[in-house]
Amino acid sequence: MNRRLHTRLALIIIGIAVGIILISTVSIILTTHYHFSMYKSQVPGMNHDLPQLDYHLEQALVQTIIWTCIVSIMLAALIGIYVAKRISAPLVHMKRIAESMAEGKWSSRVALQGRDELADLGASLNSLAEQLQRQEQLRVTMTEDIAHELRTPLTTLKSHMRALKDGIWKPTPERIHSCYEEIERLTQLVAELEELTHMESPGFQLVRKEESLFGVIDRGVELVSAACREKNVHLKRLVPPGITVRVDRDRMIQILVNLLTNALEYTPAHGEIRIVVTKERDSVLIMVQDTGKGITSENLPYIFERFYRVDKSRNRKTGGSGLGLTIVKQLVTAHEGQIWAESQQGTTFFIRLPSEI
Ligand code: ADP
Repeated sequence: MNRRLHTRLALIIIGIAVGIILISTVSIILTTHYHFSMYKSQVPGMNHDLPQLDYHLEQALVQTIIWTCIVSIMLAALIGIYVAKRISAPLVHMKRIAESMAEGKWSSRVALQGRDELADLGASLNSLAEQLQRQEQLRVTMTEDIAHELRTPLTTLKSHMRALKDGIWKPTPERIHSCYEEIERLTQLVAELEELTHMESPGFQLVRKEESLFGVIDRGVELVSAACREKNVHLKRLVPPGITVRVDRDRMIQILVNLLTNALEYTPAHGEIRIVVTKERDSVLIMVQDTGKGITSENLPYIFERFYRVDKSRNRKTGGSGLGLTIVKQLVTAHEGQIWAESQQGTTFFIRLPSEI
């Protein structure tokens, strides 16, 4: 394939050069011949006085032209081969890199030279390789994570079921409930995974409209207020009226409910959860603060990662799937916003959203 490209390029270059040289040579020979005939007819006595000199002069000129033509063709061939090699070499190199990537060697990269279109093509290929490498790493870790997440509840279920089947356990309501809880956990995990995959797909779109931030927060608060009352946790909000944001209302409520549910989860009775909103120059800052147990600085950088839990024990009643904050981050990013957390006494989640001008 590479030899074919190289040969084709060389043949095109040589063909063009030889064509030009041949046309020039023929026209020079014809012109020389024409001028010699004119000279002979116009200068009286020339035909008879020095015919030999006249003939040799013409021959010398024609032969020089022919030799120049031959040497030029040879030079054109050499230059053509060289130029074709120079043009095809980076393409051949890129083809080899693409082939090695196809074989799974994701670290292969094109060596970039110059700043022309071929260098741009090489840079595009390198960035494509980087993206593919990242996707591949993500795919591998995702598969490992999912397998790990499924293994624990499935192992628990299997041992419980075996004990029931072998008659070692009596099927008491508590034991059946414990199996049911594991199945619930699995169902929730699969549902959240489906949701995350949907959000990460290129077809995912928000339905953004101008919404009153007060109204959106009000709905979010309404959804968790009963649980807060039940746990005796105070839920306060400081939201200035009149702020509008272009958001997907349902998704924004989902973000708030997720953060509020987490805050409630980690805040003891008589604690407090506050939602504070401040208007900035061209953005809005939403803070969800709690007086809970907080997150240590070692764990804080990882809380938005998939399946990350500060408490690694799966059997904890409070242990969720570890996907909640990943989904929240994905949704905030889809709104062109930013999310981060700080934790000293209790935890504060910050969401910065672009506001309507
Ligand atoms: P989970 O489903 O386990 O709640 P999340 O992605 O929502 O997963 O949260 C990841 C981890 O971050 C949680 O396991 C928890 O340890 C920690 N976390 C989240 N919110 C808070 C909070 N308000 N206070 C303390 N820890 C929190």
